[in-house]
Amino acid sequence: MKVIDLRSDTVTLPTPEMREAINNAELGDDVFGEDPTVNKLEAMAAEQLGKEAALLVSSGTQGNLVSVLSHCQRGDEVILGDQCHTYRYEAGAVSAFGGIHTFAVPTMERGGLDPTDLEEAIRSDDPHFPHTALICIENTHNLSGGTALSPEEIGPMAEVAQRHDLPMHLDGARIFNASVALGLDVEEVVRPFSSVTFCLSKGLSCPVGSVICGSEEFIYKARRIRKALGGSMRQAGIIAAAGVVALETMVDRLAEDHVNARFLAEGLAEIPGLQVDLERVQTNMVMVNVQREFPDGIVGPMDARGIKFLDRGRGRLRLVTHYGIDEADIQQTVEAFRAVMN
Ligand SMILES: *Cc1c(COP(=O)(O)O)cnc(C)c1O
Repeated sequence: MKVIDLRSDTVTLPTPEMREAINNAELGDDVFGEDPTVNKLEAMAAEQLGKEAALLVSSGTQGNLVSVLSHCQRGDEVILGDQCHTYRYEAGAVSAFGGIHTFAVPTMERGGLDPTDLEEAIRSDDPHFPHTALICIENTHNLSGGTALSPEEIGPMAEVAQRHDLPMHLDGARIFNASVALGLDVEEVVRPFSSVTFCLSKGLSCPVGSVICGSEEFIYKARRIRKALGGSMRQAGIIAAAGVVALETMVDRLAEDHVNARFLAEGLAEIPGLQVDLERVQTNMVMVNVQREFPDGIVGPMDARGIKFLDRGRGRLRLVTHYGIDEADIQQTVEAFRAVMN
């Protein structure tokens, strides 16, 4: 039985082309700046995102941590959403390793932050207060169901940041899902942000890695912080080789994942007892509410049918489409749900 694993797009395995590229990668010592494959990936990423420079890091979590540490001093404050990954799922890293205070404002339905809330959160110059140094935004917004925030939605947040002369960091773990869904060049989607982290190891299917993009000056700082965190790697071209293939071949195909997610969402929405907010299904995620009690949860009986997904508690499920999942898998998933819900 084929296991249909919809827990996350992080379960994706490298493509045959990636394995070949890894095998044949030209390598050097990246700590000396001498790995040609890393240099190539960083140049490609910077170019595609319209930033001056880029830096390969081990993970999205490390990318966000390095970025926040590059923007902030100890005792500074970062404003972020209370439903964002950095606030909830990164082990409190910015506080633990950076001594940085977080100010979490309520997250709006689609993952954005209310500009009035942002404005209010920015500290005045008063000895009681920490110094506000940064605003973080997430796009696509994971916990909101993979929603893609458009430039029109980001605009009012960026205006507040600009008015207060504050930099914005984008947790763009899935930024290419956003640009593909919006039908916009990724450069346009990330333009208001002075730094961006994106993941190679999610929908882009690489085995490892994330990339930070920003100005030359910012990346110069970030490189030292990455070193301090133990994140500098030697022949990292082994990792970067897959990243190069990802940027060349795996971005446009994200549209297939989005079509499959929509197909899945529409199929599930028709099953009595399942509720799906179809409007929020914009990229590769489907959030489902189960309106029926399963004494031992729904994950077990679905797992027995070879279908995996995440149970987020209180009847909320998350299913993610990705490379390796096709239309037939989606059909099978919908049928299994129908059977289990009956
Ligand atoms: C996955 C994810 C991260 C962290 O990436 P890792 O590579 O798992 O550390 C950060 N932000 C968002 C929104 C994510 O979905």
